[in-house]
Amino acid sequence: MVVRGATKRYGRATALDGVDLEIEPGRFMVLLGPSGSGKTTLLRGIAGIEAFDDGTVHFGDTPISSGRTSVPAERRDVAMVFQDYALWPHMTVAQNVEYALRRRSLQGSARRSLAATALERVGLDGLGARYPHELSGGQQQRVALARAVVAEPALLLFDEPLSNLDADLRERLRVEISTLARSSGATSLYITHDQSEAFALADEIAVLRDGRVVQRGTPEEVYRHP
Ligand code: ADP
Ligand code: ADP
Repeated sequence: MVVRGATKRYGRATALDGVDLEIEPGRFMVLLGPSGSGKTTLLRGIAGIEAFDDGTVHFGDTPISSGRTSVPAERRDVAMVFQDYALWPHMTVAQNVEYALRRRSLQGSARRSLAATALERVGLDGLGARYPHELSGGQQQRVALARAVVAEPALLLFDEPLSNLDADLRERLRVEISTLARSSGATSLYITHDQSEAFALADEIAVLRDGRVVQRGTPEEVYRHP
């Protein structure tokens, strides 16, 4: 995934000021920065939820977005995991996961079986018939993880997925996210303001400040030259 010159303004405020970012296929990149540095704006632009004012996004050789012309979010090979889980409350756990497969021409039975396998991978086998409100926060985030990986997207985007969980759970889910993302073969981009989370998860860290990438390297490199 390659971003070139991503720029976004809100009125007179500049949220992104010409961001360049490359992630090698299959790598786990953490975008680290304080609140207001532009992390969410960048992620939403890559996902296609919101257009950049300027700049380009490529997945492999495929142009996904150039200025305001872009492939719509639902046709990008991307899945996103949110801070607040963003599950459909009126759907069961299994239906939430199956929803990510809605654009695949699959038999109902194949869809159900893929969803069941994804739920097993996140340790939730047997909970498919429950509704989100019947689950704990950690379980709900695991459902969101299953939904993210079930269709095997090329790119996984994580928007502070652990910040609503208590410290214990944060630690455990961090490990699970790392394992799941890396075994899925997807390229990952994970945003956080939490340094220790970034150091623990990343193959590579990009530090964002005031809408610009100010530093970039392996966790060791970034730690040595803060
Ligand atoms: P982060 O995710 O790092 O906290 P954001 O991408 O949310 O940063 O925000 C970057 C900057 O853009 C901030 O100054 C924020 O106030 C501004 N911003 C973000 N979204 C909007 C919006 N919808 N309207 C106006 N300003 C916004
Ligand atoms: P603090 O957050 O109290 O300022 P540090 O800046 O020392 O702590 O470290 C930030 C995070 O980086 C810590 O959570 C720590 O676990 C992690 N860390 C410490 N040393 C290293 C290292 N050599 N390489 C990678 N990560 C490290």
